[in-house]
Amino acid sequence: MEAAKKAGGPVMVTFSRGGGQFLAGKAADNTDDAACIAGTVAGALHVRQVAKLYGVPVILHTDHCQKSWLPWFDGLIEASEEYFEKNGEPLFSSHMLDLSEESLEDNIAICKKYLERMAKINLLLEMELGVTGGEEDGVDNTDVDSSRLYTQPEEVWQVYETLSAVPNGNFTVAAAFGNVHGVYAPGNVSLKPVILHNTQKFIKEKLGCDSDKPVSFVFHGGSGSSLEDIRYAIEAGVVKMNIDTDTQWAFWDGMNDYQKKNKDYLQAQIGNPEGPEKPNKKYYDPRMSLRSGEEKMADRLVKCMEDLKCIDRL
Ligand SMILES: [Zn+2]
Repeated sequence: MEAAKKAGGPVMVTFSRGGGQFLAGKAADNTDDAACIAGTVAGALHVRQVAKLYGVPVILHTDHCQKSWLPWFDGLIEASEEYFEKNGEPLFSSHMLDLSEESLEDNIAICKKYLERMAKINLLLEMELGVTGGEEDGVDNTDVDSSRLYTQPEEVWQVYETLSAVPNGNFTVAAAFGNVHGVYAPGNVSLKPVILHNTQKFIKEKLGCDSDKPVSFVFHGGSGSSLEDIRYAIEAGVVKMNIDTDTQWAFWDGMNDYQKKNKDYLQAQIGNPEGPEKPNKKYYDPRMSLRSGEEKMADRLVKCMEDLKCIDRL
């Protein structure tokens, strides 16, 4: 939100399931449904409260939810339903449901069921087709068959046909076009955003519509992508890009810088180059190193906003 205010906004804040559990004061290992729900809801309420200080549009989203994590998903929708009753809007803006491990039929049917419920309180559904490679938040797709890394236009059409029939339903499609979670050595990933472009063309023909971009796509695993690929993906109808790994790295880099810069003040509670009895409390205060991480991450986010051309627009 600090980065968004600096650049002109808007910004999307996304909680993962493991992140929610971590916010509840537990390890980020995705094992405790109740903690995952409590932490994610608490995070959303925190963002809503603090967002008032920044005055930029904030979209509250949650990341990948696979089938075995549906109790978390249900808990979040319930929280939005309760919030909606009191405030006339949902607690969250949108949720991602990643049933790409299920059959296409099951994926679409379960998404439809949830979208019907979510549409009533103006929650957007992001669904996934195909597989994002790599590893993230405890889900390992590093060994997946490479053909599954590329979504077929026919699959997107089936999703589009079913979900666009839901009254007031808003949805986006996280399609696989060779994207992966994480940053790997150059040449390891073959991004083909032309798949998105071809899919738009296919669906435009099916619909016989005027729009060149009937589908709103989501780009998972945006970290490490070239500006050229990012811009091409936007032209092909990408409305959202996830950039976890690059922002995580920026945060760590900022903390690492802090440690290096203040190394001589961080070896003991007392004693530094200024004298053997000088206290170091203000250096090892966790807020100091965490703040350094925040500043680096905010700088990286401003660059993301420029790359994505999302400054001063929704
Ligand atoms: Zn993802």
